[in-house]
Amino acid sequence: MKPKIAFYWCASCGGCEEAVVDLDEALLDVADAVEIVFWPVALDFKVKDLAAMPPGSILASFINGAIRNSEQREMVRLLRARSQVVVAFGICAQLGGIPGLANLSDAKGIFAEVYRDGVTPQTLYRENGHTLTLPEFFDTVAALDEVIDVDYYVPGCPPTPNLIRDAVSTLLGAELPPKGAVLAPDKALCEQCPRKDTRPEKLLLKEFKRVHQIVPDLQTCLLAQGLVCLGAATRAGCDARCIRGNMPCTGCFGPTSRVRDFGAKALSAVASVVDCNEQSVIAQIMDTLPDPVGTFYRYSLPSSLLGRRRME
Ligand code: SF4
Repeated sequence: MKPKIAFYWCASCGGCEEAVVDLDEALLDVADAVEIVFWPVALDFKVKDLAAMPPGSILASFINGAIRNSEQREMVRLLRARSQVVVAFGICAQLGGIPGLANLSDAKGIFAEVYRDGVTPQTLYRENGHTLTLPEFFDTVAALDEVIDVDYYVPGCPPTPNLIRDAVSTLLGAELPPKGAVLAPDKALCEQCPRKDTRPEKLLLKEFKRVHQIVPDLQTCLLAQGLVCLGAATRAGCDARCIRGNMPCTGCFGPTSRVRDFGAKALSAVASVVDCNEQSVIAQIMDTLPDPVGTFYRYSLPSSLLGRRRME
């Protein structure tokens, strides 16, 4: 019997699911080595069939996306109960991701913004003897391990095909990594960056630039050109795809194991290159960085020490 695996999609854009399809022919190798028993985005599996499976009968469930509503919470609890191993697949599942920026508001604030006519979704609606239900939309977005026990993490927005292939073969191998491992290199992106030799040892900047304000040189370190590149704070493993595309790193692989709060680490890495000791000038330089939360906590607000904006 082949080992069984499952994929599920919670609050995310769907890019992680596409990354699986991006395995190209390697997807056939994966499909050959395992039996996919649940993958709603690709095939018409039924929840009742999943519920009928014995506990632990799935070798590994790859769950992408953050937890935003009650249906997602129910589904990940069911997958946890049926799986030997749960993998938080992609940065939204690992740290909350971009959907986690909704923690700057709450359910009421989001509905007020989106449904401006005042008609908002209800969890229960009755009409002519019929009942319609919708999942509960939570106030706070959570990373996967805030809701269920998670064994491994595959970072990225989305994870690269190489990382996915390696993660599957690791899980099929005889020796599993220690519980809680992030299945990507535990070093900073700057260490693997093709431009690392052009990053000055003592880098000092008087202003930050946004990507539309300059045409960056193709060879030189992007931070040295004034762009906010978070490679010093971000885990490697992405093959520096954005840097090769002449775009700065936005931190989608999250932190290395030595960092507790990605945003704080990224902010401190960027603040350390500000060329000034005078408070008011430092403030002016930092003002050239719009949207600090979206810059430094873009992928990690729910799992950060902040967690969410203080609502009161
Ligand atoms: Fe590469 Fe960015 Fe690090 Fe510069 S700051 S070396 S461009 S990852």
